[in-house]
Amino acid sequence: MRYIILSFSALLLLLSLILFLQGRQGHPLPNHLSKIEKWITPNNRVKVVSTTAIIDSIVEQIGGERIDHISLIEESMDPHSYELVKGDSEKLSFAQIIFCNGLNLEHGASLRYQLQHHPNTFALGDIIQKKIPEKILFNQNQPDPHIWLDASLWAEVVDPIVQALIMADPEGKSYYETQGEKVKNSIVNLDKTIRDQLKMIPSEKKHLVTSHSAFNYFTRRYLTETLDEAINDQWQSRCSSPEGLAPDGQLSCFDIQCVVNYIFQYKVKTIFPESNVSQDSLRKIQSICLEKGFLIEISKNMLHSDTLGSFSQTYQEMLANNANILYQTWIS
Ligand code: FE
Repeated sequence: MRYIILSFSALLLLLSLILFLQGRQGHPLPNHLSKIEKWITPNNRVKVVSTTAIIDSIVEQIGGERIDHISLIEESMDPHSYELVKGDSEKLSFAQIIFCNGLNLEHGASLRYQLQHHPNTFALGDIIQKKIPEKILFNQNQPDPHIWLDASLWAEVVDPIVQALIMADPEGKSYYETQGEKVKNSIVNLDKTIRDQLKMIPSEKKHLVTSHSAFNYFTRRYLTETLDEAINDQWQSRCSSPEGLAPDGQLSCFDIQCVVNYIFQYKVKTIFPESNVSQDSLRKIQSICLEKGFLIEISKNMLHSDTLGSFSQTYQEMLANNANILYQTWIS
């Protein structure tokens, strides 16, 4: 009898513990809910939308469990010309905070309108431009938006993200500041790693041909040999591409010929496609070079310019992957 009473007491204790833990954790959301349905479910977390996956990656690392975050523009889609699709307006209206790149990256008219009319939109590139205008590159009077491809510049987005999250969730101040410091350190360390890695490549090999002009900041930061080269626009001789700052522009024979001339001048052996841009222009260049008896290869490994790509979970992985592809190709 004593044994039965003891067993019954143990069972009651176990049931109480389970109920206590369930109470602490709240009711878990059903697994069948989509990412958007989970994001839109009311809770105490800050609801954040970032336009690109690259911004979203940094926001996620800083906000952690205190926020619910999504990116608006899906992988492989071009952020330059993105126009809103069904459901996007609801996401943007529901967001407490929107982070976008600015510097005219998101120039699709419908998206730009929504970004301009939300009370809490933070254009991170525009904030950096105000702080350090001398670091922003221009092409035909248009700002080059691809600042994330220079990690030393992209580290500058951390503080504005931390400040915006504190504004929406003051109780999380110390958490966001601690996370922000960690994220900034990891980006700064990555910057040093890539600089050291690409310094090992002989100068004459560091000439980068890609589909669109996304790698100007990357070139200035990681492919130059001297400070002079980096600050006096001489870095421009280290990269070339047939398509402009946005891959949605018209491609001209002149643009193609300029890249062909560049390839001949610097004896470029490999050209690099990008994951979110058509390879048509690179194939055309390859074919013209072949007609002139010059064999060039289109790399089988695609660079990631405007998206994270399927192999990278984070911004840091994406940039390190780009540097590794160039290093492995050029060192061989
Ligand atoms: Fe781009």
